[in-house]
Amino acid sequence: MRLSVITLFPEMFHAYLGAGIMKRAADKPVAIFDIIQLRDFATDRHRTVDDYPYGGGPGMVMKPEPLQEALKYATRDGLPTRTVLVSPQGKTFTQQMAQALSEEKRRLLFICGRYEGIDERVRESLVDEEISVGDYVLTGGELPALVIIDAVVRLLPGALGDEDSLKEESFSWGILDYPQYTRPPEWNGLKVPEVLLSGNHAAIARWRRKEALRRTLNNRPELIEKAGLAPEELELIRRIKEEEYESDK
Ligand code: SAM
Repeated sequence: MRLSVITLFPEMFHAYLGAGIMKRAADKPVAIFDIIQLRDFATDRHRTVDDYPYGGGPGMVMKPEPLQEALKYATRDGLPTRTVLVSPQGKTFTQQMAQALSEEKRRLLFICGRYEGIDERVRESLVDEEISVGDYVLTGGELPALVIIDAVVRLLPGALGDEDSLKEESFSWGILDYPQYTRPPEWNGLKVPEVLLSGNHAAIARWRRKEALRRTLNNRPELIEKAGLAPEELELIRRIKEEEYESDK
């Protein structure tokens, strides 16, 4: 998959994408990254990319011309491209969106805003969709673009060492992940649950499903309704509620 980014801070991408699983994905290559410095497309000698907002108000707005030129450069090979503006005003990013983007055949091109954001006409005429990473405002689009890129690239076939780890993680099966333990079996007086040491795979799977449900019920109860649970899982939920009620008494 080809992933391009237009940003005023390419070094942030080189740092993150140059390590760990993102680096491995680029080395293979299952992901090809093209990080583009927006300032290279400014036309004046001060390399200006922002200007005052029409109508007044605080802050600066990113000018349309350098963005348009950077977009032309990013798509110079003529390959089909899906252009994403990262913005707090976009649709909230989810695991389902990450999955859909990972199946995209077109290049993904991310525009990272700074200041008060970009000129509205760029959004209207050059952007396919706006994605937010949550209901809070960051100083720039670099972290949101990296969040989306990371979530998408790790889903690409061949990106992870062990693709089984994608199967049971949070959100992919509609609920949160179960608790994980590693050695030693006892640490600071806290023991690993007996069942995980038993070697009984069916019992381990049952325990994990129940604890995943418990965690979801406590931290993200709204996910339970959407998860389409089987009757035996609804029965587990009833038992968890009973257990928690007993332990609160
Ligand atoms: N004035 C804008 C508003 O209120 O919607 C906020 C601009 S923000 C300071 C600068 C840039 O950071 C945005 O253009 C966007 O690219 C990025 N950004 C900030 N928060 C974000 C979020 N939650 N999701 C995605 N991008 C975000």
